[in-house]
Amino acid sequence: YFSQLSSTDDSKPAISLEFFPPKTKIGLDNLIKRIERLTIALQPVFITITYSQLNCDKTLKLISLLKENKNFDNVNICCHLTCTNSNIKLIDNTLERCKNLGINNILALRGDPVDTDAVSQQNNNDSINFRYAVDLVRYIKGKYGDTFCVGVAAYPEGHYNNDFNPVTKNYITSQDYRQDLIYLKEKLDAGASFIITQLFYNADKFLEFYNAYKQFIPNYKKYLMIPGIMPINNFMIFNRATKLAHVNIPQFLIDRFPVDIRNDDDQVRNIGVNIMIEIIERIHRETNKEINIFHFYTLNLEKSIAQIISKSPLLSQILEESDDDDDEEEYESEFEDDVVIEIDN
Ligand code: FAD
Repeated sequence: YFSQLSSTDDSKPAISLEFFPPKTKIGLDNLIKRIERLTIALQPVFITITYSQLNCDKTLKLISLLKENKNFDNVNICCHLTCTNSNIKLIDNTLERCKNLGINNILALRGDPVDTDAVSQQNNNDSINFRYAVDLVRYIKGKYGDTFCVGVAAYPEGHYNNDFNPVTKNYITSQDYRQDLIYLKEKLDAGASFIITQLFYNADKFLEFYNAYKQFIPNYKKYLMIPGIMPINNFMIFNRATKLAHVNIPQFLIDRFPVDIRNDDDQVRNIGVNIMIEIIERIHRETNKEINIFHFYTLNLEKSIAQIISKSPLLSQILEESDDDDDEEEYESEFEDDVVIEIDN
């Protein structure tokens, strides 16, 4: 399991990488080559593949292609799985396929906000109502036991909730990380072993959340907390992603992008690389190295990640430890320019 692997030496910094399944055959072929380059150079502790119920076959297709490829023999793969608007049949089908492919790590998620009516209709014949991620964690651990090592999501700035209340017929909007911590604990108590966080750009907020988490979960060292890092490749996407994720960008970070360069992706990326390095190094330092694995939301791109790893004094240790004889600069220049493989809508 990934959780066992990662606990072998807690002083080494490491990364994990997240990809989404492309829609076309060309996109898929390109992505596999890209994952191959990244995993050989960066030795991630695991890679994760996102999931959506409408496209679950694409997730499993990508995983099966990776498993067929000898270059991925030593790469841990984690499959995301969502449960709302789903039923036991689909969930079991995905879990069985993962098991048969030799996938032992599942990131158990709720998925899109609940369409209460659709769920109750769909679940009429199900014995379990998969309303929250904790229901999925309980189901996986109850039925599959130790076949799967289960991870869950956490939200340093709170999960933006816009839940429909069928009684009052109103939407209840909330975003409170302290309330989420109660539910995070529920997911851990149900058998989850690791946590990947939502992206964030406000290190103060992450550290405040992490300290509250430590106080709330006294045996927190039993679980692996991996902060989610989304490199900044393009100013518009950066802005849009933070709005979608309901996360704060401190004004002093916005000010680092002069208005006249905001359409220049190279300049934006260079500034973004420095920002991400500062955030990563600060979190590592101020958590007394308790946090030493960082999860990259790659958006299926590689260049900024290559730059972050090679320029970060902390993360460049990964390159020194990899078998690759190339020095850091050569490594970085080997990377292709980022041709967008496909935009995820
Ligand atoms: P939960 O833990 O169920 O929490 C959802 C909301 O319900 C929260 O507001 C929480 O406070 C509240 N809540 C939880 N338990 C209870 C309870 N018992 N009673 C009352 N309220 C409760 N989405 C995809 O569709 N595909 C993906 O591949 C995907 N990957 C992701 C990867 C990461 C690392 C992250 C952080 C998110 C990902 N998402 C993905 C998005 C995720 O599905 C959404 O953010 C979703 O809205 C919440 O999922 P969750 O698992 O955190 O839900």
